[in-house]
Amino acid sequence: MYDFIVVGAGFAGSVVAERIANVLDKKVLIIDKRNHIGGNCFDYYDGSGILIHKYGPHIFHTIYKDVWNYLSKFTSWIDYEHKVLALINGKKVPIPFNLNTLHKLFPEPIARKIETKLKKKIGEEKKISILKLKKSDDKDLKLLGDFIYENMFKNYSLKQWGRGLDELDPDVGERVPVFISRDDRYFQDRFQGIPKHGYTEIFKKMLSHPNIEIKLNTDFKDVFNIDFQKGKVFYQNEEFKGKIIYTGEPDELFNYRFGKLPYRSLKFVFKTIEKEFFQEAAVINYPNDFDYTRITEYKHFTRQKSNFTTFSKEYPQNYDKTVAGKNVPFYPIPTKNNYELYEKYRRLTLKFKNILLLGRLAEYKYLNMDLVIKNALKLFDEGISNAG
Ligand code: FAD
Ligand code: UDP
Repeated sequence: MYDFIVVGAGFAGSVVAERIANVLDKKVLIIDKRNHIGGNCFDYYDGSGILIHKYGPHIFHTIYKDVWNYLSKFTSWIDYEHKVLALINGKKVPIPFNLNTLHKLFPEPIARKIETKLKKKIGEEKKISILKLKKSDDKDLKLLGDFIYENMFKNYSLKQWGRGLDELDPDVGERVPVFISRDDRYFQDRFQGIPKHGYTEIFKKMLSHPNIEIKLNTDFKDVFNIDFQKGKVFYQNEEFKGKIIYTGEPDELFNYRFGKLPYRSLKFVFKTIEKEFFQEAAVINYPNDFDYTRITEYKHFTRQKSNFTTFSKEYPQNYDKTVAGKNVPFYPIPTKNNYELYEKYRRLTLKFKNILLLGRLAEYKYLNMDLVIKNALKLFDEGISNAG
């Protein structure tokens, strides 16, 4: 029998499993309903030999040295600093909106005037969220905020979320703040890179340990039963008293008893062409054109040499839980109502002393990889290794 069972082989589950096996020297079973490890960070070489990210572009970046050091035990890195362009009024300009974007989109005298005001009112090398800029008491800065919102955020967010940015937690817009700088990078984090041999190799290394057993194509529902009256969990009809670290959707865990917790999904359409490069940046966003939000060309991440190149178009869509395997729950939808519904599931989970929720889906938080890893290391230190 196992000491721990982990549901989900993404970063949340894999980090915890790796720690349990290596640090505690305990036996852990990790199950995943997919046919591969790595969760949404899974990458592989496609038919033309290009390393692609099956579930969309993943760039590793963090301000946390402990997270960077932890992950660096399993990989070396390709130096890569992410830059994104957005097609606005027929021009491809840097996003997040910065001083270079300002000068590309506005006539020079106006751009210079606004630059001076931004520096004076907000400060050089400072960031401000688009929703805050829209509320500026300075008339010109407010107009700039309205312009950026209308041209970069409004339609992109409607496509991405199926609702307006103002209906979502302000954290969503704050991910892409206006930057009073000439720095075109998407992230300013100290540590950034692409794993030298891809993400899947990281997961293989993390999980290759005699204490870890992996069962793929295995859904939690097929092997677990929950007795709500007694607060007990059964694995293959035997009571399981060890800890279960669950990284899937919490509503599914409890058979949707408070209703369905919404997530947003995406469809990726990949294409390979015989050409060295398809576009001038790894990612180009299309806020106002087409049904897709962005195109990612994967060779930019790795600088692989090939006569072929592969890119993907990203079409947002509703997540349909009613049809198993139809699509993937990529994003929690951060609205007040959804947070309240999530809170009911979280409280119910607390009644089961041995079930711990972890990761983007289970914590219902829009977490990047680094925070998922940080939370997993924290849970291991505080909720697993110290809890006996
Ligand atoms: P997941 O990777 O989703 O893993 C959960 C696993 O649980 C899945 O494999 C699933 O199959 C399994 N599972 C669920 N339910 C069950 C069940 N009932 N039974 C068995 N198995 C189950 N982050 C960054 O830092 N940088 C980026 O550039 C970046 N880009 C992204 C781009 C896109 C399009 C998306 C959607 C996310 C991006 N992220 C990025 C975020 C990153 O994908 C997540 O932080 C990370 O994958 C979360 O890991 P996780 O283990 O919590 O969840
Ligand atoms: N966003 C936007 N226009 C853009 C880029 C981002 O409106 O060109 C908004 C949109 O709501 C998006 C959010 O900012 O969901 C966060 O963007 P990010 O690039 O972090 O999204 P992710 O890569 O996580 O999908």
